[in-house]
Amino acid sequence: MRQSQYTWKIFYKRFNPAQEGLRESLFTLGNGYMGTRGAECECVASGIHYPGTYISGLYNRLRSHIAGKTIVSEDFVNCPNWTFLTFKIGDGEWFSPSTTKILDYYKELDTQRGILGRKVIFQNWKGQKTLIETFRIVHMVNPHLGAIKYVITPQNYSEQITVRTMLDGSVCNTGVERYRNLNYQHLKSHNSGYHGRNIMYLSVVTSQLKVKICEVARVNIFSKGKPVVVRRKRFTRNKKVIGEDLEFSASKNKSYQVEKIVSLYTSQDREVKNAASAAIHSVKTSGCFDTLLKTHTNAWVKLWKKVDVEVKGSSFSQKVLRLYMFHLLQTGSVHSCGRDVGLPARGLHGEAYRGHIFWDSIFAMPFYDFHFPEVSKSFLMYRYRRLEAARQYAHKEGYRGAMFPWQSGSSGKEETQVIHLNPLSGKWGADYSRFQRHVSFAIAYNVWHYWKIAGDSDFLIRFAAELILSIAQFGASLAHYNTKDGRFHTTKAMGPDEFHEKYPHLSTPGLRDNAYTNFMIVWTILKAKEIICVLPHQQRMHLLKKLGIDSKELKRWDEITKKMIIIFNRSGIVSQFDGYFQLKELDWDKYRAQHKNIQRMDRILKAEGRSPDDYKVSKQADVLMIFYLLPLGEIKKIFKELGYHFDKNMLKKNYEYYSKRTTHGSTLSKVAQCIVAHRLGSHQEAWQLFQDVLESDFYDSQGGTTPEGIHVGVMGGALDILMRGFLGIHLRGERIRIEPTLPKAWRRLKVTFCYRGNWLSLTLTRNKVVILVQECQKGAVPFTIQVNGELFFPFLGKPIKVTLKR
Ligand code: BGC
Repeated sequence: MRQSQYTWKIFYKRFNPAQEGLRESLFTLGNGYMGTRGAECECVASGIHYPGTYISGLYNRLRSHIAGKTIVSEDFVNCPNWTFLTFKIGDGEWFSPSTTKILDYYKELDTQRGILGRKVIFQNWKGQKTLIETFRIVHMVNPHLGAIKYVITPQNYSEQITVRTMLDGSVCNTGVERYRNLNYQHLKSHNSGYHGRNIMYLSVVTSQLKVKICEVARVNIFSKGKPVVVRRKRFTRNKKVIGEDLEFSASKNKSYQVEKIVSLYTSQDREVKNAASAAIHSVKTSGCFDTLLKTHTNAWVKLWKKVDVEVKGSSFSQKVLRLYMFHLLQTGSVHSCGRDVGLPARGLHGEAYRGHIFWDSIFAMPFYDFHFPEVSKSFLMYRYRRLEAARQYAHKEGYRGAMFPWQSGSSGKEETQVIHLNPLSGKWGADYSRFQRHVSFAIAYNVWHYWKIAGDSDFLIRFAAELILSIAQFGASLAHYNTKDGRFHTTKAMGPDEFHEKYPHLSTPGLRDNAYTNFMIVWTILKAKEIICVLPHQQRMHLLKKLGIDSKELKRWDEITKKMIIIFNRSGIVSQFDGYFQLKELDWDKYRAQHKNIQRMDRILKAEGRSPDDYKVSKQADVLMIFYLLPLGEIKKIFKELGYHFDKNMLKKNYEYYSKRTTHGSTLSKVAQCIVAHRLGSHQEAWQLFQDVLESDFYDSQGGTTPEGIHVGVMGGALDILMRGFLGIHLRGERIRIEPTLPKAWRRLKVTFCYRGNWLSLTLTRNKVVILVQECQKGAVPFTIQVNGELFFPFLGKPIKVTLKR
């Protein structure tokens, strides 16, 4: 394979049952509307395979009785498996890669064109050899379509062949082992049947809201472009499975193409009145596989033009960055727009975290801001529509403003479980992660950056201002003034580090003065104040009245931005929360010697009857998140207003202190740490962390989480490292500041992105950066560029070449 092709392809040359879960996630195909795992089409769910199809925003609630409690959880529904397709020779066994003798196996994902391909030669006990070539797409133009081409070539025999295809609605949500003690039957049978000569349909309903999921398949067999005469035998099972056996006589060395074109609609799709007729119509009118392939690959070419990152010097970096972008493009696309869906932490790729939406967008959203602002906007509108639910949640918990849930699903209610299973001990324990109030400030951060990057004033006036002000109002209500020290404090909150849920001696959850939360409250209030200043008078007055923000409250906001407490020790280390420094040090050497993987130290300690609450051990960046999100200049300014001195030397000390005490039990952690290390000039360390970030989902470094779904945060985070780390891009109003450092291992890096309607490319080599404005959209806002302090005025089509001093 040519080098240029190599970086667009992820391939495996051996079928490896132990790796199937990971490959299925990495080979997921999607288009923002739906995602289908890259499971072998001949399989059903087993210990090896897990075919899964998820539609963004499609959830279902089920009640379960567990550990003496009744819990209700909302899950991302695993929809009927549309991919099932296999065959048998004569009256032999149905073919399946996991039960047959495989002579040759090759499976690849072509990220450039969005095609999942496979080539297998297998031999049965009679010595009959068959070549099978499969191609699968999930259409990027018509989001409701999926298609498979399955080519069978008998290599040394002529015999009857029977192809079996099904739409399988007997699937359940059993993709995550830890959740299998809970109810997982989300689908009920509804209707199935055949339409005309070659079309079958299946419709099932979700158990709670009775959402209809309709799948329709058209199956034909061709040889040399001509239809093959087949005998069709139809079957159904318990009204949940519908299938067809297609029998034909096959000749040696002749190829037979089975084409399965499938369409999928639900009664939630607002654009259609009747999901079943829409699905039937769509399948009846869509072209053959090759026609669909053409429009699909053209769409991918257009997408890559907007987003591709070119790296020279490391084909591993290039390949994984493309893979990560590929999955981001499949999780959020124009087909997500206007569908009232958020960005799920684990993509449309699996059932981990039940398809819920967390704060992970803080890492992933910049990718969409820079390339598809309309997608970012749509994800933010998902939050806007749930402002009322967030207000009710805040009110219920005794706060003001809008408090968004830690885990969000369809309604905007808190979806975090109250108990969770420790797989190490097999015990169920309380889950307090909902006390991570910082998720609301992450939403404010995303809103602010979308506005900054897209320059979308209409969004600011109509939605962003209300979101940010309501969140600031909530933040302010979290803070309470203590006359003794003249500072504002917070209680009952957890930082991103989920290991610390409460104080060792207490049974009630939550901590005092989590530094990250306190800092982000101040940041959000400052941004809210800026927004109040830029809002047109009438809108400002209207909004302040609507939200009940009066001069007294604004005065209090001002005080919070001057008097919020951040606790430091004498050496200038920020205390993760009040009392952190009193905790015990962990015997890191002992645990490293005892366990191969100590990322989930919480589970290890709990299984030993201890608690991570007692130790200075963090799951992920917490204090360091401040330094990941914001430029040092802005941080210093905020600290100064609060009456604290902060400098780069202190940043270094904090980095060293906390990185030693973090297990990186979340893949997000190394993204944050990488950018901080880079800013500190520790380029070698930053590079190593960047490698870990790239390896994270590619190799499933956590050992078992990627098979349950990709990590959108780490994928977006890798690209954030390029933009804000290696290219050192800072956006300051009408100015883009760049302070680039090309990693030693790379010779060249090229990125393309859109800033306020201007599409520009940056090409960085060791001693030069070239900036080119390629296109200005209607209404593009003029901007200047500052490279290492020197100012430039870009013009459309005129490259700016800047020599970099070493
Ligand atoms: C992390 C959270 C993250 C969640 C979803 C957890 O393991 O600790 O920070 O939001 O996963 O990705």
